[in-house]
Amino acid sequence: MFIDLRSDTVTKPTQAMKEAMFEAEVGDDVFGDDSSVLALEQKAAQMFGKEAAIFCVSGTMTNQLAIRVHTQIGSEVICDKYSHIYLYEGGGVALNSLSSLKLLDGDRGRLTAQQVRDAINNPEDIHQPITHLVSLENTMNKGGGCFYNISDIQAIKQVCVENNLKLHLDGARIFNALVETGESPQQYGELFDTISICLSKGLGCPVGSLLIGNKDDIKKARRIRKAMGGGWRQAGFLAAAGTYALDNHIARLRDDHLRAKQIGSILEGLPFVENIYPIDTNIVIFELPKTLLASDFVEKAKESGLGCVVFGKHLVRFVTHLDFSDTHLSIFEDKIKKIA
Ligand SMILES: *Cc1c(COP(=O)(O)O)cnc(C)c1O
Repeated sequence: MFIDLRSDTVTKPTQAMKEAMFEAEVGDDVFGDDSSVLALEQKAAQMFGKEAAIFCVSGTMTNQLAIRVHTQIGSEVICDKYSHIYLYEGGGVALNSLSSLKLLDGDRGRLTAQQVRDAINNPEDIHQPITHLVSLENTMNKGGGCFYNISDIQAIKQVCVENNLKLHLDGARIFNALVETGESPQQYGELFDTISICLSKGLGCPVGSLLIGNKDDIKKARRIRKAMGGGWRQAGFLAAAGTYALDNHIARLRDDHLRAKQIGSILEGLPFVENIYPIDTNIVIFELPKTLLASDFVEKAKESGLGCVVFGKHLVRFVTHLDFSDTHLSIFEDKIKKIA
């Protein structure tokens, strides 16, 4: 059996999710009359205490739409150097928004208010691009799934308000943070102008992300999405999976976090494990000795029936998810010990 921990995107819909999809009432979403899409968008907006939401094909698309909405040609966006919007979106900020990024060196991808304040360009200086947006990521993928203290975000929000900057959240895994902190989505809705959430990660949907914000911003995003070719028709079959996941798959993320910690304990004793990043949610990153390349390790793991990804020259990432049970964990243990 192949134990696939390459990402939490590899999950397949559960039987109950498939039934919800099969039963979905659909329409034509470009005409705005797919009731399942409308229900999902409304539900997500309400959860975060916002006015509106737009259902999209990917988290890359929802982030890119947000950045486009909040910037002008030649803007600068402040984010951490580990950000998904910088590392993993194909240079989309340059392509879609003709804007540049100011990359900061945070704590495992988390910024402080002081760092943000110091990074804002002087709008009177014509040498410098005008700072229009701050983008945070929570949980932080490249930082090993760590999450922010909400007080740090509140302080960043204050800096944004004082400097007339918009604040966007790449919340692909925001629910992984919320189940750990006990905070509510509304608290996040109050702090951010726009929030992107992924349904296809820990929540276990086959496809989909939502951008959540005020009516005006989401209306603009809808126009840009159409121009990008992202208008879709009977998308309600996918939206129904999203609604099902928001109702049923949030609380269980704690199980993924527990299993990630158990993977950490298993790794601790192994000879090829030099160092393990702190495990805060469902992401496990460990470091190999300098004599071992992550690419070689990942290849060997694959031959042994374990899926993981290269996360740096000597770094390997595992991600736990809905299709990784306690039974799979014990198979994982056998397999990884054999690699050793
Ligand atoms: C997965 C992910 C996204 C979006 O990825 P897509 O594959 O485009 O859906 C955005 N941000 C973070 C932090 C992610 O992990």
